[in-house]
Amino acid sequence: MKSCTKCASECQEKEAKTPEGVAYTFYKCKACGEGIVDMTQLHAVAEKYREMKKYHAKVTKWGMSLGVRIPKEIAKRYKFRDNKEVTIIPEEKGIRIIPV
Ligand SMILES: [Zn+2]
Repeated sequence: MKSCTKCASECQEKEAKTPEGVAYTFYKCKACGEGIVDMTQLHAVAEKYREMKKYHAKVTKWGMSLGVRIPKEIAKRYKFRDNKEVTIIPEEKGIRIIPV
């Protein structure tokens, strides 16, 4: 059991999402509502961010359109292939690209 650093009451593990949509867990005090993130939880979310940041890419102009280079590692992992069609799904903060 995790106890609150403010009032020493029992805390409950909860799940939340960062503004970037990264899921993480934290402890919320049942009495005062204080939110606590322990080292394990912090490392887990930091690791997720590291993974995300690894794949930053630049948008470049290709003729009349814009293109994004898909890193080799990602292409391999999700089976993107040259000349293969993908589905582009517009979402609130960006797009999702799914190999067909
Ligand atoms: Zn508390």
